[in-house]
Amino acid sequence: MSSTAPTNNVFEDIRRAWERDRLAQAYILVGPVRGSALALARRILSLLFCEATAGRPCGACPGCRGAEEGRLADVLFLEPVKAAQLIDVEQVRTLNLFAGQTSYGGGWKAGVLLYADRMTPSAANAFLKVLEEPPPRTFFLLLTDQPHGVLPTILSRCQKVVLPSDQEALRPWMDSVAELSEDRNAGGLAGLAGASKLGVLLEKKRKEIEKVEAEAAGDLNTDEDEDRLKARITARYKESRSLALRALLLWHRDVMAAVSGADTSLFVYADHLGRIRELASRVTLSEALIRVDTVEDMQTQLDQNINEDMVLEAGLTRLSGLEATLSKR
Ligand SMILES: [Zn+2]
Repeated sequence: MSSTAPTNNVFEDIRRAWERDRLAQAYILVGPVRGSALALARRILSLLFCEATAGRPCGACPGCRGAEEGRLADVLFLEPVKAAQLIDVEQVRTLNLFAGQTSYGGGWKAGVLLYADRMTPSAANAFLKVLEEPPPRTFFLLLTDQPHGVLPTILSRCQKVVLPSDQEALRPWMDSVAELSEDRNAGGLAGLAGASKLGVLLEKKRKEIEKVEAEAAGDLNTDEDEDRLKARITARYKESRSLALRALLLWHRDVMAAVSGADTSLFVYADHLGRIRELASRVTLSEALIRVDTVEDMQTQLDQNINEDMVLEAGLTRLSGLEATLSKR
């Protein structure tokens, strides 16, 4: 897996810092939150909590396994909950209390914040307090794919690690986008049928995530368990949705680049140059730009939690409308 190589280098840097007792108090891992960022977070936790005397992390001891499975007594995970999909101040207060307690294993205590950009303002301020005066032997990992959404005063207290984007996770969506674009019966990618197919693919993905997460969660005993499961499903689905839109965006960017005569060696959809050139020959630069803007607007609106059905329908209808004008020429 080529995409793991840079992550490996990042991990080795952190391991060296840890060996020299130079670990930063807090790291912000910028990348796909439930992809490479979470994977790296787990490796860092296994480094801290591994019980082996040498060759840490060993990958086999209870500390390493606990880190991998996300269940360690001295690690608290925070992630956005409830319909608002935000980390609220109560969650951060719990984390602050947790950080101040004596560690269960006699070593580190760690807090991991998934989607650290989604803290409410009061949650961010409460978190800043603990970052400013952290109890000894506490360690924080903040995970985000939207670092500009994190309070600058928090950012400045974290060591920033930028991870490569999840090319592997993006690949299936790119294949779907390319496939839909070739499907002339469906009117191509931006045809109404093609557009609704993208919606169908997303729905299928949601069902898949629901099944996997429900199985992983096992028995749900409390409302809290149920909330957590729902939040995990929503978060993972949103990640897939944003990958799907990114694949769509990259397609339209390639078309736009082809219209402007850019060097094709830089194209993301290098395997579909024929189709891209053909589409590019039928649109003006500003028409290509409108398509790129439309997809970008969809992503922005979805990030603002505007109703998904509405956003997808409006955006995809707009794209197919653009295509319809084109075919009348
Ligand atoms: Zn171990």
